[in-house]
Amino acid sequence: MVVSGGRIVAAGPPASLQIPADARQIALPGLTLLPGLIEGHSHLLLHPYNETPWNDQVLFESLGERVARGVVHARRTLEAGVTTARDLGSEGAGYGDVGLRDAINKGVIAGPRLLVAGPAIVATGSYGPKGAPEHSLPLGAEAADGVDDLIRVARTQMGRGADFIKVYADYRWSPTGTAAPSFTLDELERLVSVTTSSGRVVVAHAATAEGMRRAILAGVQTIEHGDGGTDETWALMREHGVALCPTLSAGHAISQYGGWRPGQGPEPERVRIKRESYRAAVQAGVEMCFGGDVGVYPHGDNVRELELMVDWGRDLGMDDRAALQAATAGNARLLGLDDRGLVAPGLLADLIAVEGDPSSQISALRAIRWVMKGGQIVVETTSR
Ligand SMILES: [Zn+2]
Repeated sequence: MVVSGGRIVAAGPPASLQIPADARQIALPGLTLLPGLIEGHSHLLLHPYNETPWNDQVLFESLGERVARGVVHARRTLEAGVTTARDLGSEGAGYGDVGLRDAINKGVIAGPRLLVAGPAIVATGSYGPKGAPEHSLPLGAEAADGVDDLIRVARTQMGRGADFIKVYADYRWSPTGTAAPSFTLDELERLVSVTTSSGRVVVAHAATAEGMRRAILAGVQTIEHGDGGTDETWALMREHGVALCPTLSAGHAISQYGGWRPGQGPEPERVRIKRESYRAAVQAGVEMCFGGDVGVYPHGDNVRELELMVDWGRDLGMDDRAALQAATAGNARLLGLDDRGLVAPGLLADLIAVEGDPSSQISALRAIRWVMKGGQIVVETTSR
């Protein structure tokens, strides 16, 4: 491969390449070279809930602490071979994600290329933290209600640096604490039309069939979570070209924080529901995004989601190769990033080298030995 100006100029057998006389040559013997990974659902401003519960992170950690942690998380993410990450909401840390993105782009700190949501949008009354009703607690996202308010808040978030808008189409706020839709179809449609007219997209947190239906009809790019999807939901997603970020690892991790050990004892219901809905979506041919909700579990452990995708979906065609494609060319395509995700001339020189062959054993992605981002070597393990 020949790299120049941060991009791939040529790739192929050495004899076929025109190598400039002054080129620095790098050999990666015994390693597999592939495109950098694209994480579809991260929260760089969160850290694992078994360290600090989500409520306490939002309520009691200062913005300074949260951003400082985010700086560490960004480096770990890059070291894990993730050269692009779509960050799905700052969860109460304001525009800290915009600052991280800009600091990375300016070369101040190490990290993946970031697409950030900013605060994200929720319906009043739906989101947490929740406590004594007499008090207004800081929220993990920004509330907006009604078409006019949604337009104002979306435009504000975009103006302050959000690359896209994340909306919570439903949340766990029914009287019994189960998930229920939060916005009307009309509200979501206007939010999408205002956002897309600025050249951005809306992505939706949705875990109920009705929340998913409204979000899909409104025109969101991806559905996040999707636990309550039905055959009708999957068909609608296919019809509208909406991809699913199943975030398999999130509930899997939270269940373990609650004491469950995979393979031991009865499987928690949330894990069973997640596995079954994921399998139904794969079987229905819904396009799968690689996005695990990393931050609920440790940054740098992004591959955990790919391993679960394969573990739970291999017999339905989500094998190692398919999962690897989801994490590279697949996410590039469904997120509209046509300058990355493949090793091909003209694309960004975002590349990783691993031990083994991840297309036949996805866990090989845990053995990252070398990472290049934009033509710069950012990780080089010399202990081989
Ligand atoms: Zn999330």
